[in-house]
Amino acid sequence: MKLLRHGSRGQERPGALDRDGQIRDLSLLVPDFTPDWMSPEKLAALAAIDLKRMPLVAAGTRLGAPVAGIRQFVAIGLNYRKHAEEAGLEIPKEPVVFTKALTSIGGPNDDIAMPIGSVAMDWEIELGFVIGSTARQVPVGQALQHVAGYCVANDVSERDWQIKRNGQWGKGKSFDGFGPIGPWLLTADELPDPQTLPLELKVNGMVRQSSSTADQIFPVAEVVSYLSQFMTLLPGDLVITGTPAGVGQGMKPPCFLNRGDVMELSAGPLGTQRQRVI
Ligand code: ZN
Repeated sequence: MKLLRHGSRGQERPGALDRDGQIRDLSLLVPDFTPDWMSPEKLAALAAIDLKRMPLVAAGTRLGAPVAGIRQFVAIGLNYRKHAEEAGLEIPKEPVVFTKALTSIGGPNDDIAMPIGSVAMDWEIELGFVIGSTARQVPVGQALQHVAGYCVANDVSERDWQIKRNGQWGKGKSFDGFGPIGPWLLTADELPDPQTLPLELKVNGMVRQSSSTADQIFPVAEVVSYLSQFMTLLPGDLVITGTPAGVGQGMKPPCFLNRGDVMELSAGPLGTQRQRVI
C-alpha cells in the first residue's frame, strides 16, 4: 500500500494512492498516520480498505510527509563506498549515525528556502524507512519485521555548517525543509527486499546521482539491528540510510545549489520528489 498525507502544511489528512495512481482520502476512517498506525495490525487493517470506495482527492494537491508525529529522525552517513571516497573519508567499519531536527521534515515537493548565510547547500537522495514496532537490540535476521515501510528522502545539507562549524553533522542537516520525505510510504509487504531500489537525483535536469540500494555498505536490516543496540527505535521513527556518490561537494570543483535550482529525485516504486530552492 502507498500511504500518504495530503493537504496544506499542518492541515494534512491521511490518504493512499490507488492502483490507478489516484489519491484517495482516508480521513473518514483514520484520524492521521500517527506512529500507532504503523503497527503490523493497523497496517493490515489499512490494507483491507477498498480504496475504490474512498473519496478522490484532486490531482495536484500538495503532499506532506507520509507519517505524522515522528519522534526520532536518525540518519546514516557514508553508507556507499564511492560516496565515502568522494567525501575524502575512510570507508566506515561501523555505521556513522547522526540525527536531523524533526523541524527539518517537509513534503516531497515543497520549495526549500536557502538559509541566510548559506554558501554550500547540497543534495543527497536516500532510501528512508519508518519503524512499525518497537526495536530494542534486535538481531539482523529479525530486523526487517520492525519496518513498516519505505520512502524517498532528500538529506539536504549545508556543507560549511556540517563540516567547518565544529562539532557534529546535525548543524548542517537540520534547517527547516532540509528533510523532504515522501511522496508516500510503500508498506514493507510490497517491498520484501529493500536492497534493489534504483536511486536517481537530477539538478536542473542533469543527472547527478545514479545508483542502487544494492550498493549499500550496511543494508537496511543491519542498520535497524545496529541502531537498536544503542537506542530503542519507536513506531513512527524515521531513518534515512545514506546517499550514493554524486553530491555537489564531491564535484571538481564543488558545485552547490543556488536559488531557482530544481532537484528531482526518483526511486522506482517509492515515487518521485521535486524541490525548488528559493
Ligand atoms: Zn545523508
